[in-house]
Amino acid sequence: MNTVDLRSDTVTQPTAAMREAMMAAPLGDDVFGDDPTVNALQERIAALTGKEAALFMPSGTQSNLCGILAHCGRGDEYIVGQLAHTYRYEGGGAAVFGSVQPQPLTQDAQGRMALADIAAAIKPDDPHFARTRLLCLENTWNGHVMPDEYLRTATALAREKGLNTHLDGARVFNAAVASAAPEQTTFARLREIADHFDSLSVCFSKGLGAPVGSALCGSHELIARARRIRKMAGGGLRQAGLLAACALHALDHHAERLADDHANARRLADGLRGIDGLTVKSAETNIVFVDVADGQGPALLEFLKANGVLATGLIGLRFVTHLDVDTAGIDHALATVRRFFVEAPAAGTAAGRTGPY
Ligand SMILES: *Cc1c(COP(=O)(O)O)cnc(C)c1O
Repeated sequence: MNTVDLRSDTVTQPTAAMREAMMAAPLGDDVFGDDPTVNALQERIAALTGKEAALFMPSGTQSNLCGILAHCGRGDEYIVGQLAHTYRYEGGGAAVFGSVQPQPLTQDAQGRMALADIAAAIKPDDPHFARTRLLCLENTWNGHVMPDEYLRTATALAREKGLNTHLDGARVFNAAVASAAPEQTTFARLREIADHFDSLSVCFSKGLGAPVGSALCGSHELIARARRIRKMAGGGLRQAGLLAACALHALDHHAERLADDHANARRLADGLRGIDGLTVKSAETNIVFVDVADGQGPALLEFLKANGVLATGLIGLRFVTHLDVDTAGIDHALATVRRFFVEAPAAGTAAGRTGPY
């Protein structure tokens, strides 16, 4: 049996068709702005998100960084969730490279910052304070879809107070698929989500299954500033159409199918719910979080790994579904978890069961 790799939706391999699209792509030098495939991708994603322009980026981290630094200057600040990716998991880049101060706020279990907290964190124009410039949200956050009402009211509050708004939409396609109305296309829903924000960053290398790449989408003016910053960050790539071709292919062929990943996550969550010792926390999109009783998380992870199933976590485990995992893989993962809890203790052989954890 092949390894069932549920560590992240970034582990996907380009499909044969994606590799063909890559080989066939017309190329130029994107630093001169004449790579036709990069230009086609940028026009496509700008149109899909309803923004004037877009800029292809090597990673989501660089896309968020260039976005924040295009909105904020030295001594400005941005409001962001305490557990949001741009604050917590991007090396503090906005502060390190841009002297932009983050103002992190507590989030609820769905990832939302309270509107009252946002309002209270916006500083008056006074030399004591950094200048509050930007509100940054994330959708999906830990697999949760931000409700439209929240996106609307939080961004309206920001605008009313003179702040710009940015969405870390690394998994915004998952959010669009999961929250589209019946009969509504994924792209129509994407546009509705994007409409709330001045700018957004999207990833092609997560659920969409491209090997590399993100895009920052926003106004002509913002994207022109971001282009300078991307160059400084070393993100000006040359024949980047090779990569952009994969992203274009992913938009054409891998967006609607995210529904399959969500169905597989539900299948996994439903199966795990039936196992004593596990508490399944959520499976709204393609990420399943599971709390493991009695500090057995690390032992379970080891046992899974020894049996060809990869996940991440410690006390709580995280399983992420994607293009390269099918229902047979999910069923193998479930059977392996069951074996850990049911068979292994009886045989007394489960790896590392004696702790300490
Ligand atoms: C993965 C991720 C990023 C960063 O993307 P990279 O391409 O890994 O740099 C940003 N935000 C969120 C929410 C992510 O999940």
